Amino acid sequence: MKIGFIGLGAMGAAIAANLVRARHDVLVWNRSADKAHPLIDAGAILAASPGAAAADRDVVFTMLADDAALLAVLAGEKGLYAGLKPGALHVSMSTIAVSTADQMTASHRALGQRFLCAPVFGRPQAAAAAKLFVVAGGDPADLETANPLFQAISQRVFHVGATPSAASLIKLCGNFMILSAIEALGEAMALAEKGGIPKQQLYEVLTGSVFDSPLYRLYGDLLVNERFQPAGFAAPLGLKDMRLAAQSAESLRVPMPLLNVLRDHLLQTIAQQGEDVDWSAIARTTAKNAGL
Ligand code: NAP
Repeated sequence: MKIGFIGLGAMGAAIAANLVRARHDVLVWNRSADKAHPLIDAGAILAASPGAAAADRDVVFTMLADDAALLAVLAGEKGLYAGLKPGALHVSMSTIAVSTADQMTASHRALGQRFLCAPVFGRPQAAAAAKLFVVAGGDPADLETANPLFQAISQRVFHVGATPSAASLIKLCGNFMILSAIEALGEAMALAEKGGIPKQQLYEVLTGSVFDSPLYRLYGDLLVNERFQPAGFAAPLGLKDMRLAAQSAESLRVPMPLLNVLRDHLLQTIAQQGEDVDWSAIARTTAKNAGL
């Protein structure tokens, strides 16, 4: 398939590499062009603008930091809205606000373009291993078009209905739950450690018994080994997701007291540890608060 790929950060570069590996014809664009070099070496072609990465393409992926970055590549005469031909499909994989997904759905429809909102679960390592989970919202026919491409990058695809923004809301719910789990792990590890129990021992007992899940294994391992840098998922992106979840909670009138605690804790972590740490570094904040 003729594919465009816009946004070659930690996630985008790994996903685009798998599409190139699957022998698709891939045009790439990134704000900082140097990040495209490994992909060009692998067979992708560098486009001069987001619009140029979309021209004559069947499907264009975006994987950008946040709503503002996405809106920036969509707009303008060299942007994605202008460059995507009628009938072509935009697959947005960034974690974005529900309202932004709704806005894009309307804009693409007005331009005769197709649109899937398809955020993913899985960190850069999972993306590189083509083991992501894709949560896709949109027209079933559009999902069928994208399906061979999703097969090249993921282990499972969930179709969550015809409304694209439903996928955004599910993704935000998921990230709220992941950070809740990290917070719980961090607090439990601080308690155990202060009581003289090694973190590794707590990890082995819990993940070997009632917390035997990939999520607790992945984050438990990061916490035990204090691997917070380089970030797989940078804390400011996690903060963005808690903000977007809070926006939905407010507009839907859902009190989420835990969400507010997590957001504040992540903010404290960024203030104290900097912008470059992984979001799981909230566990280090908890440990410091415990005098460890
Ligand atoms: P990242 O490494 O920080 O990459 C961000 C990308 O956005 C880069 O290509 C960056 O371009 C681009 N960008 C930022 N601001 C821009 C702007 N104003 N105009 C144009 N491009 C801009 O982030 P990531 O970890 O790949 O995450 C990407 C998305 O996936 C986010 O929505 C994140 O929430 C979501 N996500 C991440 C993970 C994870 O574990 N990392 C997992 C699931 C979902 P430059 O290279 O020029 O800076």
